[in-house]
Amino acid sequence: RIVVVGSINMDVIASVDKLPLPGETVAASSVQYSPGGKGANQAVAAARAGADVWMIGATGSDPFAQATRNSLASAGVDIGHVADKPGATGMAIIEVGADGENHIVLAAGANGLLGPADVVRAASVLASCDMVLLQNEVPWSVNQEAMRIAKASGTRVCYNPAPVRKLDIKALEGVDVLVMNETEAAAFVATVPQGLDGDWSALGVLSDAGIGMTVVTLGSRGLVCYHRNGLIRLPAFPVRAIDTTAAGDTFIGAFAAAFDEQNVLYALRFGAAAAAIAVTKPGAQASVPSRSEIDRLLKA
Ligand code: ADP
Repeated sequence: RIVVVGSINMDVIASVDKLPLPGETVAASSVQYSPGGKGANQAVAAARAGADVWMIGATGSDPFAQATRNSLASAGVDIGHVADKPGATGMAIIEVGADGENHIVLAAGANGLLGPADVVRAASVLASCDMVLLQNEVPWSVNQEAMRIAKASGTRVCYNPAPVRKLDIKALEGVDVLVMNETEAAAFVATVPQGLDGDWSALGVLSDAGIGMTVVTLGSRGLVCYHRNGLIRLPAFPVRAIDTTAAGDTFIGAFAAAFDEQNVLYALRFGAAAAAIAVTKPGAQASVPSRSEIDRLLKA
């Protein structure tokens, strides 16, 4: 049982030959609407991977509210604690150039209106789950409230500090699993090693700060996991990547669904397999694989 407290967005993706300069207008060759938001992506990934999942978040009063809720519900996520807020649903406006470079404007919309009171209303759900997943696309006070309730009820806390936000390590007391990419890791450790074979002992500061386990994802190179018993280095599954959107979110959701303190390596491999499949397909939630697809790659 997993609960996600976080963002729900509609991604609007326009493909252009060349990204516009300030003041310039360019024509898009296509435009796509794709449900996203780090919180919702992680919830969908956990549900497709086979977990029972609840979403605590918010949508607005525009037509995107229904579309983003539908995407969660059709993956099997319980949306009974997704609040209705006035105004816009969260939105990412994304321009992608022919060379793969992008511009992204993120409008928090309803995600920014989510408050600690919304989390308190769902306290019984938080208390009944094995793990809560948190990110940085809702106000920090929301994460704090979720951590407080989780700690009081023995629910594990998995925190993904994305997008990067300056935070004192002390604020992470009570985080059981920290998952971040290299950019985010740079906010917490002085020097992030290059690649899988580097000296990752710098992650020890996070362990000293009380974080049970730290995972740093390295894109196509794989991931490292630092925990009490040592360091796990896990290369990525070799696939042909076409769109890495939501790779990290897919990893986290699937990892959480498979999490077992006694067999961390299995959960890491399961998450990495899910993310590897996701990068072979376009879109955020649209690219998230099912349990059977993940099992197939693990057995291959
Ligand atoms: P984020 O999307 O948060 O930046 P990463 O790019 O580090 O995260 O990707 C997260 C995980 O997804 C990686 O640790 C890896 O397991 C998997 N992954 C990402 N890109 C690829 C790729 N090109 N091939 C295979 N697996 C990938």
